[in-house]
Amino acid sequence: MIITSAKLFEEILAILKDEDNIFVIGCNVCAAKLRTGGEPEVLEMCRRLEESGKHVVGWTLPTAACSIRSFESLVEKNEKINEAFCILVMGCGSGVSSVANVAEVPVYGSNDTLSLGGSSGGKLLSEQCVMCGNCTIGEFGGLCPKAQCPKGLLNGPCGGAVDGKCEVARVNDCVWTLIYERLKKIKRLDLLYVIHAPQEHGFK
Ligand code: SF4
Ligand code: SF4
Repeated sequence: MIITSAKLFEEILAILKDEDNIFVIGCNVCAAKLRTGGEPEVLEMCRRLEESGKHVVGWTLPTAACSIRSFESLVEKNEKINEAFCILVMGCGSGVSSVANVAEVPVYGSNDTLSLGGSSGGKLLSEQCVMCGNCTIGEFGGLCPKAQCPKGLLNGPCGGAVDGKCEVARVNDCVWTLIYERLKKIKRLDLLYVIHAPQEHGFK
């Protein structure tokens, strides 16, 4: 799941200051789950834009904004998109790019894209992976220090954790504490003795 947060409405209005005849596209997967681009948020966005003097020509909610077959597939959902001078996508950056790839009008995004996360056991998880292109997560018991340690330490911990909390991001658990607990649970503490070579800049 791509983690997004909604921009302030005032920021969106500023982005759209020279635009009118707006078509709004939501995303019925990640953004819907996070309430940054599901149907209620799309309808609320349309209402607020109209209230602010912008004309909204229509809206649609594709299954996933990041998976758009063609512009015609959007027209099939709502032909009003043909009247749009611009499109506002309420998804992640990938959703905005996917729509821009098939649209002939300017495309804007209403969200900030924060990280690659997920949800598990009823909990929303952010920053689970930074898509490094060389996945070694199995060597850390299934918890990624490249994504979850602010220092990106592959041979942690740094020694600064206090009561299991990270010294940099104090509200977060130190991922190396979690890795230790996890490896202990799965009886793989031996993995802590593996020295990991430094990563190339950009992790590739
Ligand atoms: S090692 Fe971490 S950042 Fe790299 S692909 Fe695996 S989970 Fe993602
Ligand atoms: S306290 Fe833990 S998570 Fe925070 S920087 Fe140090 S090793 Fe990384």
